[in-house]
Amino acid sequence: MRETAPQQGQGATGKTNLHVERISVPLAEARDIILGSIQPLGSEVVGLLDAGGRVLTEEIRAGRTVPPLDNSAMDGYAVRAEDTLRVPSTLRVVDSLPAGRRATRALGPGEAARIFTGAPIPPGCDAVVMQEHTEADGHRVTVLRAAKSGDHIRRAGCDVTPDTLIAATGTLLRPAHLGMFAALGRTQIRVSRRPRVAVLATGDELVEPDRLRDDGKIVTSNSYSLVSALLDIGADPVYLGIIPDRPGQIADAFREALRCDAIISSGGVSVGDHDWIKQVLAGLGGELRLWQVRMRPGAPLAFVTAHGVPVFGLPGNPVSTLVSYEQFVRPSLLRMMNRLSVFRPVERATLAEDFEKQPGRMHLVRVLLQERDGRRFAFLSGDQGSAILLSMVRAQGLAIIPEATSRIAAGSDVLVQLIERDDLRPEPGF
Ligand code: AMP
Ligand code: MG
Repeated sequence: MRETAPQQGQGATGKTNLHVERISVPLAEARDIILGSIQPLGSEVVGLLDAGGRVLTEEIRAGRTVPPLDNSAMDGYAVRAEDTLRVPSTLRVVDSLPAGRRATRALGPGEAARIFTGAPIPPGCDAVVMQEHTEADGHRVTVLRAAKSGDHIRRAGCDVTPDTLIAATGTLLRPAHLGMFAALGRTQIRVSRRPRVAVLATGDELVEPDRLRDDGKIVTSNSYSLVSALLDIGADPVYLGIIPDRPGQIADAFREALRCDAIISSGGVSVGDHDWIKQVLAGLGGELRLWQVRMRPGAPLAFVTAHGVPVFGLPGNPVSTLVSYEQFVRPSLLRMMNRLSVFRPVERATLAEDFEKQPGRMHLVRVLLQERDGRRFAFLSGDQGSAILLSMVRAQGLAIIPEATSRIAAGSDVLVQLIERDDLRPEPGF
């Protein structure tokens, strides 16, 4: 469905009517529209040190055997098990075998070799006796327990044999994957590219934090929360600074930003005289896919695609910015990075206090979670104003209060989107 929404007439601001594909849409629909327009980025070949946390875009099969040779699982003595059947038995120590060097000399009858963990097993040896079960005396060792053939030997290929599937395309690479690739002798692998994401803050009133005075200016806190949010998911932020509310300068900033894979701006998407983002993007050939989401905080979001680049025009209020980032930008960027799971966990909790609102918008209420008597309760983390950042600082989740709801009584179940980076616990749990 397409509809033209006259945003503002041509008036004192000089703004023209804008074509908006969808206006004032429910959150879930906005999410569908936005995610539906996101194209995954291509891949690149990188060294192992740059690959952690990225998505693998090739299949990795073992090209060799791990471990490559039979080797000792213990510090001790390499022996021939048959020589240790009589207990105790004393053997001649004819060699010392540290890890990292292939043994050349074979063990003969009555002979042992000092051996260390990881060292290749010498020819003739079929067991390792733990150091703790021996007594050394110069070039002799007394074995105090009989060894069985195979004791404490790690066989070649006990971990991986050639052609074993190590990781499929689409795997999110965790530390163990990188260790395994290294063990296989891989130095480079193909992974999804990290999106370069331009961040720009618009507003004549904005200053950087080191310019904070009591002169009515507002610190561009959004710049810092957004850059941090991008680093958190492994994207590559490109901070373009503060842009004044002047169409020419906004256009210059967006032209530069269009060299990135995605753009996030904050501010300037509302209905005020200084809100130029949508007009400027239209002038640069952008298509305004949607404007305004029936949510609080975060209503005046504008989503534009310009020359294939998704542009997220986030509202300026600090909590609106972050909450819309969570709902729309984060999953979009994760999808660009070829991640299969792009949404935060959502869990049930019992609302600990009454909550009232006007119907017509979905509210995402900042909450703290607490376990009591095996139940998980959600408490409001503070004032819910869209400029009140402290309640966002304290929040662990966003309780989802549906559009049509006007009142939820304490004790009711709600869904909570968990927005903390990890669901960590204060105690180890076992
Ligand atoms: P706007 O959407 O541009 O009307 O901005 C709404 C409110 O958010 C205003 O009070 C702005 O001063 C504030 N605001 C806009 N941009 C930022 C920013 N980058 N950091 C913090 N607050 C901002
Ligand atoms: Mg503004």
